Amino acid sequence: MDLRRFVPGRVREDDRPRWRNWAGNQVCAPLRLHRPLTEAELVLIVRAARAEHERVRVAGGGRSYSGVALSDGHLIDIGGYDALLDLNVTRGLVTVQAGITLRRLEDELWSRGFVLHPWGDAGESTLGGAISTGSHGSGLHVTSLAARVAALRVVTGTGDVLDCSPEREREVFEAAVTGVGVAGILSTVTVQVQPAAHIHQHEEPSDTVTVLERQSALLHGDEQLEAELDLQSGAALVRRARRTERQPELGWRDRLNDEVATRVGEPSVRQVGRVIPPLGERLGRVIPHEPLTERVDRAPRLAARRTGPRRVEMEYVIPRQHAREAIERVSDLVRRSGWRPSLPAVLRWVAPDTVPLSMCYRREAASLTVRARRSEPYQPLFEAVETIMRDYEGRPHWGKVHFQTHETLRPLYPRWDEFQTTRRRLDPSGVFGNAYTDRVLGAVR
Ligand SMILES: Cc1cc2nc3c(=O)[nH]c(=O)nc-3n(C[C@H](O)[C@H](O)[C@H](O)COP(=O)(O)OP(=O)(O)OC[C@H]3O[C@@H](n4cnc5c(N)ncnc54)[C@H](O)[C@@H]3O)c2cc1C
Repeated sequence: MDLRRFVPGRVREDDRPRWRNWAGNQVCAPLRLHRPLTEAELVLIVRAARAEHERVRVAGGGRSYSGVALSDGHLIDIGGYDALLDLNVTRGLVTVQAGITLRRLEDELWSRGFVLHPWGDAGESTLGGAISTGSHGSGLHVTSLAARVAALRVVTGTGDVLDCSPEREREVFEAAVTGVGVAGILSTVTVQVQPAAHIHQHEEPSDTVTVLERQSALLHGDEQLEAELDLQSGAALVRRARRTERQPELGWRDRLNDEVATRVGEPSVRQVGRVIPPLGERLGRVIPHEPLTERVDRAPRLAARRTGPRRVEMEYVIPRQHAREAIERVSDLVRRSGWRPSLPAVLRWVAPDTVPLSMCYRREAASLTVRARRSEPYQPLFEAVETIMRDYEGRPHWGKVHFQTHETLRPLYPRWDEFQTTRRRLDPSGVFGNAYTDRVLGAVR
């Protein structure tokens, strides 16, 4: 064990390491940056920080857009703590160290005949980070990833280690599984998996009005479904995906054409065409291929295609019955503001769960993600969209930009006080907070 990685002691301001998230909109200079490889090291870091009266945060893949992973004290980069520990084939349960990325977990599972999906687009997120913020995919029966967790091993704020599950230390389990990093460090996670299958994905053009009018008809059984919405023009792209027995049929040329058409071709041509229409037309002739509307592949490969450019996102989860009205209002706002979003918004549907801090807690949910490049002046728009979403008791994604506080969030979560009681039990001296959690969850004093 290399003790130098977490020897306590102050460092000069300009000697501090720097950390930034993937989007580049959140930066911090922690006192120390640790890269633990064992649970014993996690325990030691927490105990050392506590003794120094400093705080600790864990950074997973840095895929959050909010300041949730920042630290003014110790920052744990948990990416090296990522082993697959056990696969229970009979029960369909995998146990891993929490720093494993979703993409690597999918690869490990695939080689053993299993998959994690249904899941969203965040392949470089860690499993610990994704469940800590309540991350989710989309579909009628698709719950947040946290709702598929069966057991956890948690390092508490006193440096103790607890095993918990719905059967054992239930309140600890429920608080820690989506704990926004304040209810302990997730050391290992046991999560449900499914037998391996490829995914058949199909995209069809539509328009926002039709998508909103036909929401219930569009949602079917085990399908994953989401819609990209151009809030300015009203155009929409509906994307469906379901498990299939089919094998990938595309050769490398088709794949390459598809990549070019999707990533370089169509979006760039559209953008150039907006500024200089004749040039856009010419480019359109040079890049003749349309992106494929249908693909069969492994879920992580399909998700990787959707990662898109670096950007900043906000996301609000509202009761499904309000989706139509809320999105019509947001579209109207965008049109009136004259803002031309360079990236489409995303409409998703999520099934309810019973995780106390899940955005989908006992809520048949629809979620709207609004996205902007970092160079765009997105803040006024995000604030205006938030004002609309709050009219529908919208809950913001913990990992995305929002402007709420613990005072405004508390009424939205029926089990808020219960969560806070367990949080204090797990972390009596508030070792795990940061400025973001002080704002959105309140500080432990
Ligand atoms: C390209 C992209 C696609 C995305 N797609 C989706 C999507 O489909 N659906 C969706 O809901 N969200 C999506 N997100 C958001 C993303 O899933 C969440 O922000 C997620 O938290 C990121 O995980 P991470 O490992 O990067 O965590 P980080 O951003 O590094 O950290 C997030 C939080 O988790 C805590 N944390 C991390 N590891 C641990 C641990 N072991 N123990 C305790 N706390 C921990 C951190 O302290 C922090 O509070 C996407 C983001 C990006 C950039």
